[in-house]
Amino acid sequence: MTTHQIAVLPGDGIGPEITEQAVRVLKALNLPLELKQAPVGGAAFDQFEHPLPPATLELAKQSRAVLFGAVGDWKYDALPREFRPEQAILGLRKNLGLFANLRPAILYPELANASSLKPEIVSGLDILIIRELTGDIYFGTPRGTRQAPDGAFKGEKEGYDTMRYTEPEVRRIARVGFETARKRGKKLCSVDKANVLETSQFWRDIVIEVARDYPDVELSHMYVDNAAMQLVRAPKSFDVIVTGNMFGDILSDEAAMLTGSIGMLPSASLNESSQGLYEPSHGSAPDIAGQGVANPLATILSAAMLLRYSLGESAQADRIEVAVREVLAQGLRTADIFEAGTTKVTTSQMGDAVLKALA
Ligand code: NAD
Repeated sequence: MTTHQIAVLPGDGIGPEITEQAVRVLKALNLPLELKQAPVGGAAFDQFEHPLPPATLELAKQSRAVLFGAVGDWKYDALPREFRPEQAILGLRKNLGLFANLRPAILYPELANASSLKPEIVSGLDILIIRELTGDIYFGTPRGTRQAPDGAFKGEKEGYDTMRYTEPEVRRIARVGFETARKRGKKLCSVDKANVLETSQFWRDIVIEVARDYPDVELSHMYVDNAAMQLVRAPKSFDVIVTGNMFGDILSDEAAMLTGSIGMLPSASLNESSQGLYEPSHGSAPDIAGQGVANPLATILSAAMLLRYSLGESAQADRIEVAVREVLAQGLRTADIFEAGTTKVTTSQMGDAVLKALA
Protein backbone atom coordinates (compact mmCIF):
# COMPACT_ATOMS: atom_id res chain seq x y z
CA MET A 1 0.00 0.00 0.00
CA THR A 2 1.28 3.51 -0.82
CA THR A 3 2.11 5.65 2.17
CA HIS A 4 0.58 9.11 1.82
CA GLN A 5 2.47 12.07 3.24
CA ILE A 6 0.27 14.66 4.97
CA ALA A 7 1.62 18.06 6.01
CA VAL A 8 0.16 19.18 9.33
CA LEU A 9 0.33 22.96 9.76
CA PRO A 10 -1.31 23.86 13.10
CA GLY A 11 -0.70 27.63 12.93
CA ASP A 12 -1.82 30.10 15.60
CA GLY A 13 -4.42 30.66 18.29
CA ILE A 14 -6.62 27.58 18.69
CA GLY A 15 -4.95 26.04 15.59
CA PRO A 16 -2.61 23.71 17.55
CA GLU A 17 -5.36 22.52 19.96
CA ILE A 18 -7.88 21.64 17.28
CA THR A 19 -5.33 20.17 14.87
CA GLU A 20 -4.05 17.88 17.63
CA GLN A 21 -7.51 16.30 17.90
CA ALA A 22 -7.80 15.81 14.12
CA VAL A 23 -4.34 14.19 14.07
CA ARG A 24 -5.40 11.76 16.82
CA VAL A 25 -8.42 10.81 14.70
CA LEU A 26 -6.33 10.30 11.54
CA LYS A 27 -3.83 8.15 13.45
CA ALA A 28 -6.61 6.00 14.91
CA LEU A 29 -7.67 4.86 11.42
CA ASN A 30 -4.50 2.79 10.91
CA LEU A 31 -4.05 3.98 7.35
CA PRO A 32 -0.59 4.21 5.76
CA LEU A 33 -0.18 7.94 6.49
CA GLU A 34 2.98 9.83 7.27
CA LEU A 35 2.07 13.01 9.15
CA LYS A 36 4.76 15.71 9.12
CA GLN A 37 4.32 18.91 11.10
CA ALA A 38 5.65 22.40 10.27
CA PRO A 39 5.08 25.95 11.52
CA VAL A 40 2.88 28.39 9.59
CA GLY A 41 1.40 31.86 10.13
CA GLY A 42 2.37 33.89 13.16
CA ALA A 43 4.07 30.88 14.75
CA ALA A 44 6.33 30.63 11.70
CA PHE A 45 6.95 34.38 11.65
CA ASP A 46 8.11 34.26 15.28
CA GLN A 47 10.62 31.53 14.44
CA PHE A 48 11.67 32.32 10.86
CA GLU A 49 10.46 35.89 10.23
CA HIS A 50 8.11 34.64 7.50
CA PRO A 51 4.52 33.31 7.73
CA LEU A 52 5.26 30.66 5.07
CA PRO A 53 8.93 29.66 5.43
CA PRO A 54 10.50 27.84 2.44
CA ALA A 55 10.71 24.53 4.38
CA THR A 56 6.98 24.66 5.21
CA LEU A 57 6.07 25.46 1.60
CA GLU A 58 8.32 22.64 0.35
CA LEU A 59 6.71 20.16 2.77
CA ALA A 60 3.24 21.23 1.60
CA LYS A 61 4.21 20.85 -2.06
CA GLN A 62 5.62 17.35 -1.53
CA SER A 63 2.61 16.18 0.47
CA ARG A 64 -0.58 14.66 -0.91
CA ALA A 65 -2.58 16.97 1.34
CA VAL A 66 -2.21 19.70 3.93
CA LEU A 67 -4.14 19.69 7.19
CA PHE A 68 -4.22 23.33 8.21
CA GLY A 69 -5.36 24.69 11.59
CA ALA A 70 -5.81 28.44 11.46
CA VAL A 71 -3.58 31.50 11.37
CA GLY A 72 -3.70 35.04 12.67
CA ASP A 73 -3.53 37.07 15.80
CA TRP A 74 -4.12 40.72 16.41
CA LYS A 75 -0.54 41.06 17.63
CA TYR A 76 0.64 40.79 14.00
CA ASP A 77 -1.71 43.51 12.71
CA ALA A 78 1.05 46.13 12.64
CA LEU A 79 3.32 44.02 10.38
CA PRO A 80 3.70 44.91 6.69
CA ARG A 81 1.09 42.96 4.69
CA GLU A 82 3.51 40.39 3.23
CA PHE A 83 4.53 39.23 6.71
CA ARG A 84 1.03 38.88 8.16
CA PRO A 85 -0.01 35.33 9.11
CA GLU A 86 -2.94 35.29 6.61
CA GLN A 87 -0.45 35.61 3.73
CA ALA A 88 0.50 31.97 4.38
CA ILE A 89 -2.88 30.77 3.11
CA LEU A 90 -2.64 32.92 -0.01
CA GLY A 91 0.90 31.63 -0.60
CA LEU A 92 -0.18 28.01 -0.26
CA ARG A 93 -3.19 28.50 -2.56
CA LYS A 94 -0.99 30.10 -5.21
CA ASN A 95 1.92 27.66 -5.01
CA LEU A 96 -0.25 24.55 -4.95
CA GLY A 97 -2.59 25.90 -7.66
CA LEU A 98 -5.65 25.37 -5.46
CA PHE A 99 -8.49 26.55 -7.71
CA ALA A 100 -11.50 24.76 -6.22
CA ASN A 101 -12.83 25.59 -2.78
CA LEU A 102 -15.35 23.16 -1.32
CA ARG A 103 -17.40 24.25 1.67
CA PRO A 104 -20.13 22.00 2.98
CA ALA A 105 -22.89 23.57 5.07
CA ILE A 106 -24.33 20.83 7.23
CA LEU A 107 -26.76 21.34 10.07
CA TYR A 108 -27.05 18.30 12.30
CA PRO A 109 -30.62 17.95 13.59
CA GLU A 110 -29.24 18.11 17.17
CA LEU A 111 -27.93 21.64 16.52
CA ALA A 112 -30.97 23.00 14.66
CA ASN A 113 -31.58 25.60 17.37
CA ALA A 114 -28.22 27.24 16.60
CA SER A 115 -29.51 28.48 13.24
CA SER A 116 -31.25 31.82 12.89
CA LEU A 117 -33.74 30.12 10.55
CA LYS A 118 -36.72 28.08 11.70
CA PRO A 119 -35.69 24.47 12.49
CA GLU A 120 -38.09 23.00 9.92
CA ILE A 121 -36.46 25.03 7.13
CA VAL A 122 -32.89 24.20 8.02
CA SER A 123 -32.72 21.05 10.17
CA GLY A 124 -30.85 18.28 8.36
CA LEU A 125 -29.35 20.71 5.82
CA ASP A 126 -26.51 19.13 3.83
CA ILE A 127 -25.32 21.22 0.90
CA LEU A 128 -21.93 21.87 -0.66
CA ILE A 129 -20.75 25.10 -2.24
CA ILE A 130 -17.92 24.90 -4.75
CA ARG A 131 -16.25 28.25 -5.34
CA GLU A 132 -13.70 28.92 -8.08
CA LEU A 133 -10.78 30.39 -6.19
CA THR A 134 -8.14 31.75 -8.53
CA GLY A 135 -9.94 33.75 -11.24
CA ASP A 136 -12.80 36.21 -11.69
CA ILE A 137 -12.96 39.88 -10.80
CA TYR A 138 -10.68 39.34 -7.76
CA PHE A 139 -7.68 38.66 -10.00
CA GLY A 140 -8.76 40.02 -13.42
CA THR A 141 -6.68 42.74 -15.04
CA PRO A 142 -6.72 45.56 -15.96
CA ARG A 143 -7.69 47.07 -12.64
CA GLY A 144 -6.93 50.26 -10.80
CA THR A 145 -7.98 53.89 -10.77
CA ARG A 146 -7.95 56.21 -13.76
CA GLN A 147 -9.77 59.02 -15.53
CA ALA A 148 -13.09 57.57 -16.80
CA PRO A 149 -12.58 57.10 -20.58
CA ASP A 150 -16.34 57.25 -21.35
CA GLY A 151 -19.80 57.21 -19.79
CA ALA A 152 -21.85 59.89 -18.08
CA PHE A 153 -18.91 60.91 -15.91
CA LYS A 154 -16.23 60.83 -18.61
CA GLY A 155 -12.99 62.43 -17.42
CA GLU A 156 -13.80 62.00 -13.71
CA LYS A 157 -11.68 59.79 -11.48
CA GLU A 158 -12.93 56.18 -11.32
CA GLY A 159 -12.02 52.80 -9.83
CA TYR A 160 -12.36 49.70 -12.01
CA ASP A 161 -11.81 45.92 -12.00
CA THR A 162 -12.19 43.28 -14.69
CA MET A 163 -14.35 40.17 -14.45
CA ARG A 164 -12.94 37.46 -16.71
CA TYR A 165 -12.85 33.69 -16.99
CA THR A 166 -11.05 31.61 -19.61
CA GLU A 167 -12.61 28.44 -20.99
CA PRO A 168 -10.17 26.03 -19.23
CA GLU A 169 -10.87 27.71 -15.89
CA VAL A 170 -14.62 27.25 -16.25
CA ARG A 171 -14.26 23.69 -17.57
CA ARG A 172 -12.11 22.49 -14.69
CA ILE A 173 -14.30 23.97 -11.95
CA ALA A 174 -17.43 22.67 -13.70
CA ARG A 175 -15.85 19.19 -13.73
CA VAL A 176 -15.17 19.41 -10.00
CA GLY A 177 -18.84 20.37 -9.59
CA PHE A 178 -20.15 17.44 -11.63
CA GLU A 179 -17.72 14.90 -10.14
CA THR A 180 -18.65 15.99 -6.62
CA ALA A 181 -22.40 16.03 -7.31
CA ARG A 182 -22.04 12.53 -8.78
CA LYS A 183 -20.73 11.33 -5.39
CA ARG A 184 -23.58 13.02 -3.49
CA GLY A 185 -27.20 13.77 -4.42
CA LYS A 186 -26.49 14.07 -8.21
CA LYS A 187 -27.86 17.61 -8.42
CA LEU A 188 -25.68 20.53 -9.51
CA CYS A 189 -26.81 24.15 -9.55
CA SER A 190 -24.53 26.55 -11.43
CA VAL A 191 -24.91 30.09 -10.12
CA ASP A 192 -24.17 33.07 -12.36
CA LYS A 193 -25.56 36.42 -13.48
CA ALA A 194 -25.99 35.51 -17.14
CA ASN A 195 -28.85 37.99 -17.62
CA VAL A 196 -26.41 40.89 -17.16
CA LEU A 197 -22.78 39.71 -17.44
CA GLU A 198 -21.01 38.46 -20.59
CA THR A 199 -18.59 36.48 -18.40
CA SER A 200 -21.56 34.71 -16.79
CA GLN A 201 -23.21 33.83 -20.12
CA PHE A 202 -19.87 32.40 -21.25
CA TRP A 203 -19.63 30.47 -17.94
CA ARG A 204 -23.14 29.07 -18.43
CA ASP A 205 -22.46 27.96 -22.02
CA ILE A 206 -19.32 26.06 -20.96
CA VAL A 207 -21.06 24.43 -17.99
CA ILE A 208 -23.80 23.19 -20.36
CA GLU A 209 -21.12 21.71 -22.63
CA VAL A 210 -19.37 19.95 -19.74
CA ALA A 211 -22.74 18.59 -18.58
CA ARG A 212 -22.86 16.32 -21.67
CA ASP A 213 -20.24 14.12 -19.97
CA TYR A 214 -22.42 13.78 -16.87
CA PRO A 215 -25.88 12.65 -17.97
CA ASP A 216 -26.46 11.17 -14.50
CA VAL A 217 -26.20 14.59 -12.82
CA GLU A 218 -29.19 16.96 -12.96
CA LEU A 219 -27.93 20.44 -13.90
CA SER A 220 -29.80 23.66 -13.15
CA HIS A 221 -28.82 27.32 -13.45
CA MET A 222 -29.72 30.14 -11.12
CA TYR A 223 -28.99 33.87 -11.05
CA VAL A 224 -26.93 34.81 -8.02
CA ASP A 225 -29.54 37.16 -6.55
CA ASN A 226 -32.13 34.39 -6.64
CA ALA A 227 -29.61 31.91 -5.19
CA ALA A 228 -29.02 34.26 -2.25
CA MET A 229 -32.79 34.32 -1.65
CA GLN A 230 -33.30 30.57 -2.06
CA LEU A 231 -30.50 29.84 0.41
CA VAL A 232 -32.54 31.43 3.17
CA ARG A 233 -35.99 30.45 1.84
CA ALA A 234 -35.45 26.77 1.01
CA PRO A 235 -31.78 25.87 1.55
CA LYS A 236 -32.48 22.14 1.49
CA SER A 237 -33.56 22.37 -2.16
CA PHE A 238 -29.85 22.51 -3.10
CA ASP A 239 -27.33 19.68 -3.26
CA VAL A 240 -24.13 21.05 -4.86
CA ILE A 241 -23.69 24.66 -6.00
CA VAL A 242 -20.85 25.62 -8.33
CA THR A 243 -20.02 29.27 -8.90
CA GLY A 244 -17.30 31.83 -9.57
CA ASN A 245 -14.95 33.43 -7.09
CA MET A 246 -16.94 36.52 -6.12
CA PHE A 247 -20.42 34.96 -6.01
CA GLY A 248 -18.95 31.95 -4.18
CA ASP A 249 -17.26 34.16 -1.62
CA ILE A 250 -20.59 35.68 -0.65
CA LEU A 251 -22.83 32.60 -0.97
CA SER A 252 -20.48 30.30 0.96
CA ASP A 253 -20.47 32.67 3.93
CA GLU A 254 -24.25 32.97 3.74
CA ALA A 255 -24.60 29.18 3.67
CA ALA A 256 -22.13 28.77 6.56
CA MET A 257 -24.17 31.12 8.70
CA LEU A 258 -27.34 29.11 8.06
CA THR A 259 -25.86 26.49 10.35
CA GLY A 260 -25.12 28.94 13.15
CA SER A 261 -22.12 26.91 14.29
CA ILE A 262 -18.83 28.17 12.88
CA GLY A 263 -16.94 25.55 14.95
CA MET A 264 -18.56 22.76 12.90
CA LEU A 265 -17.70 23.72 9.32
CA PRO A 266 -14.84 22.13 7.38
CA SER A 267 -13.43 23.19 4.01
CA ALA A 268 -11.22 21.90 1.25
CA SER A 269 -9.25 23.60 -1.52
CA LEU A 270 -8.13 21.36 -4.38
CA ASN A 271 -5.90 21.53 -7.43
CA GLU A 272 -6.09 19.58 -10.68
CA SER A 273 -4.43 16.49 -9.23
CA SER A 274 -6.70 16.53 -6.14
CA GLN A 275 -3.84 17.59 -3.93
CA GLY A 276 -5.59 19.69 -1.32
CA LEU A 277 -5.52 21.98 1.65
CA TYR A 278 -8.05 21.18 4.36
CA GLU A 279 -8.97 23.61 7.11
CA PRO A 280 -11.84 24.62 9.34
CA SER A 281 -13.89 27.54 7.97
CA HIS A 282 -13.30 29.55 11.13
CA GLY A 283 -10.23 31.58 12.13
CA SER A 284 -7.68 31.22 14.91
CA ALA A 285 -10.05 32.52 17.63
CA PRO A 286 -7.33 34.23 19.70
CA ASP A 287 -10.01 35.15 22.26
CA ILE A 288 -10.28 31.52 23.43
CA ALA A 289 -6.81 30.18 22.50
CA GLY A 290 -5.06 27.99 25.07
CA GLN A 291 -8.16 27.51 27.20
CA GLY A 292 -9.04 24.05 25.92
CA VAL A 293 -12.57 25.12 25.02
CA ALA A 294 -12.35 25.36 21.21
CA ASN A 295 -14.54 23.10 19.13
CA PRO A 296 -12.29 20.66 17.22
CA LEU A 297 -15.09 19.19 15.06
CA ALA A 298 -14.60 21.49 12.03
CA THR A 299 -10.97 20.36 11.87
CA ILE A 300 -11.85 16.70 12.43
CA LEU A 301 -14.43 16.99 9.62
CA SER A 302 -11.75 18.67 7.46
CA ALA A 303 -9.60 15.57 8.01
CA ALA A 304 -12.57 13.50 6.78
CA MET A 305 -12.71 15.65 3.62
CA LEU A 306 -8.96 15.10 3.21
CA LEU A 307 -9.48 11.36 3.19
CA ARG A 308 -12.39 11.61 0.74
CA TYR A 309 -11.04 14.10 -1.79
CA SER A 310 -7.22 13.70 -1.75
CA LEU A 311 -6.81 10.07 -0.72
CA GLY A 312 -9.97 8.52 -2.19
CA GLU A 313 -10.70 6.93 1.20
CA SER A 314 -14.46 7.65 1.20
CA ALA A 315 -15.33 4.81 3.57
CA GLN A 316 -12.88 6.14 6.19
CA ALA A 317 -14.26 9.65 5.71
CA ASP A 318 -17.77 8.31 6.27
CA ARG A 319 -16.57 6.63 9.47
CA ILE A 320 -15.34 9.95 10.89
CA GLU A 321 -18.56 11.75 9.92
CA VAL A 322 -20.67 9.04 11.51
CA ALA A 323 -18.56 9.27 14.69
CA VAL A 324 -19.13 13.05 14.82
CA ARG A 325 -22.89 12.54 14.44
CA GLU A 326 -22.73 10.00 17.23
CA VAL A 327 -21.02 12.30 19.76
CA LEU A 328 -23.59 15.00 18.99
CA ALA A 329 -26.39 12.48 19.48
CA GLN A 330 -24.80 11.59 22.83
CA GLY A 331 -25.36 15.23 23.83
CA LEU A 332 -21.67 16.18 24.04
CA ARG A 333 -21.00 19.86 23.24
CA THR A 334 -18.07 22.26 23.37
CA ALA A 335 -18.94 25.68 24.79
CA ASP A 336 -19.76 27.26 21.39
CA ILE A 337 -22.60 24.80 20.71
CA PHE A 338 -23.65 24.13 24.30
CA GLU A 339 -27.30 24.46 25.27
CA ALA A 340 -29.35 23.46 28.31
CA GLY A 341 -29.80 19.71 28.64
CA THR A 342 -26.48 18.84 26.94
CA THR A 343 -23.06 18.01 28.44
CA LYS A 344 -20.26 20.55 28.13
CA VAL A 345 -16.88 19.08 27.18
CA THR A 346 -13.39 20.45 26.50
CA THR A 347 -11.49 20.32 23.21
CA SER A 348 -9.62 17.14 24.15
CA GLN A 349 -12.69 15.49 25.67
CA MET A 350 -14.47 16.04 22.36
CA GLY A 351 -11.48 14.40 20.64
CA ASP A 352 -11.68 11.48 23.09
CA ALA A 353 -15.40 11.07 22.37
CA VAL A 354 -14.86 10.99 18.59
CA LEU A 355 -12.09 8.39 19.01
CA LYS A 356 -14.37 6.28 21.19
CA ALA A 357 -17.20 6.53 18.67
CA LEU A 358 -14.77 5.49 15.90
CA ALA A 359 -13.72 2.42 17.82
P1 NAD B 1 -12.62 33.63 14.23
O1 NAD B 1 -13.31 32.68 13.32
O2 NAD B 1 -11.25 33.28 14.65
O3 NAD B 1 -13.52 33.83 15.54
C1 NAD B 1 -14.85 34.37 15.50
C2 NAD B 1 -15.60 33.94 16.78
O4 NAD B 1 -15.90 32.55 16.69
C3 NAD B 1 -14.78 34.11 18.05
O5 NAD B 1 -15.63 34.50 19.10
C4 NAD B 1 -14.23 32.73 18.32
O6 NAD B 1 -13.98 32.48 19.68
C5 NAD B 1 -15.31 31.83 17.77
N1 NAD B 1 -14.76 30.59 17.24
C6 NAD B 1 -14.09 30.41 16.08
N2 NAD B 1 -13.73 29.13 15.92
C7 NAD B 1 -14.16 28.48 17.02
C8 NAD B 1 -14.08 27.11 17.45
N3 NAD B 1 -13.47 26.16 16.73
N4 NAD B 1 -14.64 26.79 18.64
C9 NAD B 1 -15.26 27.71 19.37
N5 NAD B 1 -15.39 29.01 19.03
C10 NAD B 1 -14.84 29.39 17.85
O7 NAD B 1 -12.65 35.04 13.51
P2 NAD B 1 -11.98 36.42 13.96
O8 NAD B 1 -12.06 36.57 15.44
O9 NAD B 1 -12.58 37.43 13.09
O10 NAD B 1 -10.46 36.28 13.54
C11 NAD B 1 -9.44 35.93 14.45
C12 NAD B 1 -8.13 35.75 13.68
O11 NAD B 1 -8.29 34.68 12.76
C13 NAD B 1 -7.73 36.96 12.87
O12 NAD B 1 -6.34 37.16 12.99
C14 NAD B 1 -8.10 36.58 11.45
O13 NAD B 1 -7.31 37.21 10.50
C15 NAD B 1 -7.86 35.12 11.48
N6 NAD B 1 -8.60 34.33 10.50
C16 NAD B 1 -7.93 33.27 9.99
C17 NAD B 1 -8.56 32.41 9.09
C18 NAD B 1 -7.79 31.22 8.60
O14 NAD B 1 -6.78 30.86 9.18
N7 NAD B 1 -8.24 30.58 7.54
C19 NAD B 1 -9.89 32.63 8.72
C20 NAD B 1 -10.58 33.71 9.29
C21 NAD B 1 -9.92 34.56 10.20
